[in-house]
Amino acid sequence: MKYIVILGDGMADYPVDFFDGKTILEVAKKPTIDYMCAHGELGMVKTVQDGMKPGSDVANLSVMGYDTRECYSGRSPLEAASIGVEMKDDDVTFRTNLVTLSDEENYEDKTMLDYSAGEITTEEANELINAVAEELNTDKIKFYAGISYRHLCVWNGGSTNVDMTPPHDISDKKIADHLPKGDGADVFLEMMKKSEKILKEHPVNKARAAAGKNPATSIWPWGEGTKPQLENFEKKFGVKGSVISAVDLIKGIAKCAGMNSIDVEGATGNCETNWDGKAQAALDAILDGSDFVYLHMEAPDEMGHQGAPEKKKFAVETIDAKVVKFLKDELEKRGIDYKMLIMPDHPTPISLKTHVSDPVPYVIYDSTKELDTGLSYTEENGKKTSLYIEKGYTLMNHFLDK
Ligand SMILES: [Zn+2]
Repeated sequence: MKYIVILGDGMADYPVDFFDGKTILEVAKKPTIDYMCAHGELGMVKTVQDGMKPGSDVANLSVMGYDTRECYSGRSPLEAASIGVEMKDDDVTFRTNLVTLSDEENYEDKTMLDYSAGEITTEEANELINAVAEELNTDKIKFYAGISYRHLCVWNGGSTNVDMTPPHDISDKKIADHLPKGDGADVFLEMMKKSEKILKEHPVNKARAAAGKNPATSIWPWGEGTKPQLENFEKKFGVKGSVISAVDLIKGIAKCAGMNSIDVEGATGNCETNWDGKAQAALDAILDGSDFVYLHMEAPDEMGHQGAPEKKKFAVETIDAKVVKFLKDELEKRGIDYKMLIMPDHPTPISLKTHVSDPVPYVIYDSTKELDTGLSYTEENGKKTSLYIEKGYTLMNHFLDK
């Protein structure tokens, strides 16, 4: 038996005005998913535990079978794993953005103009972070370049007893009230001020400013975390797993859980992603000996954040046509028995443009044991069934027949 998870990030929704009060799952044409739902198990599952924020990190960890109250230790350590930084037990990681601040003389008087420094390219950002690292790295504190504006600071022996503000929460606000507080605050503030001097004269920034783009004028650390204690997925569940995703965070989870993280060329996480390539990579992983494949698709979530109903519908329809149907056809052609779990991690309602913690509908289809529920895959139909899994992380045991 092979096991495949089709994870449509943020796919579940609330009634959408644009579609006369219907949800995306209700209006999207998804004949293969609906077939599997009508001949499989439909239920609801709570993927975000009480007291946890409905981030994609927490929700995807739950779907993968991890109790996030036990294992979740922050977002930045997962990003560290994704960019290949090995953490020691007494390391504390901080997400470090490259940001654009306004140009008042005094650092404290500045305003947060852009948390992404104009979505700076990875190439440019690498040069800048390397320049910062050269000046600011110590025996204990080190900077690492990541992707675009998203970088990393690792403080060996650092503290998580800090109060740092996510820069995307203070757009166009004065930074004075949002500077680091708690253990090591003075060290951080000094590094931030020094980074400004290092970055100011850098040729990369001069070129950006000349081209009318936001320069990266400062580092901005936040999002502290410690090394995650994720039990190895294969040890935990007895199946060899692969993960396919365009998103750093999901790749980081895969690495921390000892799963194989497969990169697909042209996988972007939006509607123009390489859908065929991802579906083919999932099939190849199975043919190459993976027992379990976790295929994560970010596009519905992105379209939810953008509040774009037609594009979100397109994303769901494309998952059905290019991924689910492809895998079903290819596996059946080869006589391979499989179970497929289809679900979102959390809803990203069009009306809110952000994540919520509501339970989500899931489908489990077993190619060797077709049932007959006759229901299509929607939030309302999920609620009609009596199946409700309160502890989201137990769904994986159920799916894998453990
Ligand atoms: Zn999201």
